[in-house]
Amino acid sequence: MLIIGSHVSFTKEKGLLGSLEEALSYGANTFMFYTGAPQNTRRFKIDEKLTQKAYELMKENGIDINNLIVHAPYIVNLANNKEEDKYQFSINFLKEETKRCETLGVKYMVLHPGSSVGLDKDIALSNIINGLNIILKDSNTTILLEIMAGKGTEVGRDFSEIKTIIDGVIYKDKIGVCLDTCHINDAGYDLNDFDKVLNEFDNIIGLKFLKCVHVNDSKNEIGAHKDRHENIGYGTIGFDNLIKIIYHEKLDNIPKILETPYINGIAPYKEEIEMIRNRRFNDKLK
Ligand code: FE
Ligand code: FE
Ligand code: ZN
Repeated sequence: MLIIGSHVSFTKEKGLLGSLEEALSYGANTFMFYTGAPQNTRRFKIDEKLTQKAYELMKENGIDINNLIVHAPYIVNLANNKEEDKYQFSINFLKEETKRCETLGVKYMVLHPGSSVGLDKDIALSNIINGLNIILKDSNTTILLEIMAGKGTEVGRDFSEIKTIIDGVIYKDKIGVCLDTCHINDAGYDLNDFDKVLNEFDNIIGLKFLKCVHVNDSKNEIGAHKDRHENIGYGTIGFDNLIKIIYHEKLDNIPKILETPYINGIAPYKEEIEMIRNRRFNDKLK
């Protein structure tokens, strides 16, 4: 079954219900959200009534809560421990974030592994592992490591770096991977031959760890290490390649999330989901 959705907002006033309503307006059957602003760590208390209402509406619409995704804020960094208090803050904040996922009933939280900023890569990777083991110790959330484009000093920029992190994590049933098509294109993987990429993923990491796909086109060439998302079919990956990935038999039932840019201030997700369902490119989107 095709599980497709997009990034949606999550507000104090409307909570999970608002996120769900936004997703439904796009014709989605899943969605991803930040539990607060992605660029800061201020968080509000989650309204239980709104969560309950969302559960009812999900049931009515046949949406499985196990397909929902939370994205951790991208300002926390588990890779660098040069400033001990900042590193501790990142760990504690992500611990709290997994608690919020549990309160909401969301199983998966996508996390950017982090940036080494001046540290040796192996040390950065061991900082991430150490942090994850502390966070996951008393958590029921599954953390999905997002493969990065390799911008700046980002770590987790290829399958073997992700594998190294997974190997170090004690709680194997609570760790997984999120594959972002724009990121891996920019990291240097050629999506013109997705079967080859997927085989490599399977050989190095293992397909069973793949729990989420971020579907984005890219503004940049393969290996550019840039990370600039483009609308579906308007970038260097192209519509046909993205459709092949979305409908790949080995990725069936894995949630696919759009994080493509707004067009003239308007979310493009309804039209993009329509394109994907029809498997027909809409060249009038922008
Ligand atoms: Fe991300
Ligand atoms: Fe992503
Ligand atoms: Zn990105």
